[in-house]
Amino acid sequence: MEEDIRRIGIMGGTFDPIHHGHLVAASEVADRFGLDEVVFVPTGQPWQKADEPVTPAEDRYLMTVIATASNPRFQVSRVDIDRGGPTYTVDTLRDLHAEYGPKAQLFFITGADALERILSWKDLDDVLELAHFIGVTRPGFELSDQHLPADTVSLVQVPAMAISSTDCRARVGRGEPVWYLVPDGVVQYIAKRRLYQR
Ligand code: ATP
Ligand code: MG
Repeated sequence: MEEDIRRIGIMGGTFDPIHHGHLVAASEVADRFGLDEVVFVPTGQPWQKADEPVTPAEDRYLMTVIATASNPRFQVSRVDIDRGGPTYTVDTLRDLHAEYGPKAQLFFITGADALERILSWKDLDDVLELAHFIGVTRPGFELSDQHLPADTVSLVQVPAMAISSTDCRARVGRGEPVWYLVPDGVVQYIAKRRLYQR
């Protein structure tokens, strides 16, 4: 029965810190694709960023929980953090597929910059089999389907939020505000834990 199928969005990211660009993208895609929920999945040690220091996973996890707590359709998953080692999207999708069962349909949400790199992903065929991909617009990056098969990826225009975690970290480092770029609770968590200060 169609009604039994749950439509689950997956938003993977380093979330160092989570910001309103992530939240708007997830909210917009959830509305457009009629998703029952969106699961935010903070990475373990991100393989693309192996040469940069990344904030401890528990801090990134807690900021993600704080930022999503008020939305009943937003969830946070620890699968990538608890697996340990570098995060590969194929493992994320396999774990969530196992957790949500065969009656869930997975939609992996990714910004234009990350979609650009998708062809280099580990086990790409399996990845495309496990989820439908939704590429969202992001200021500064061109959104294209990368010649992936049309039935595996959708492109979606979301309200432009010229916000990046890199910029948020640099702002905190310079003593500049991140109010309204990240949720209030995240501003306060950053200050409490003294994250991103030089
Ligand atoms: P960093 O600058 O550290 O790379 P980031 O802002 O790119 O951080 P990530 O955690 O790397 O954030 O991104 C997670 C996902 O969210 C990626 O798919 C990314 O493309 C997407 N994303 C991030 N910021 C935006 C934004 N402002 N608009 C749309 N999508 C975004
Ligand atoms: Mg990024």
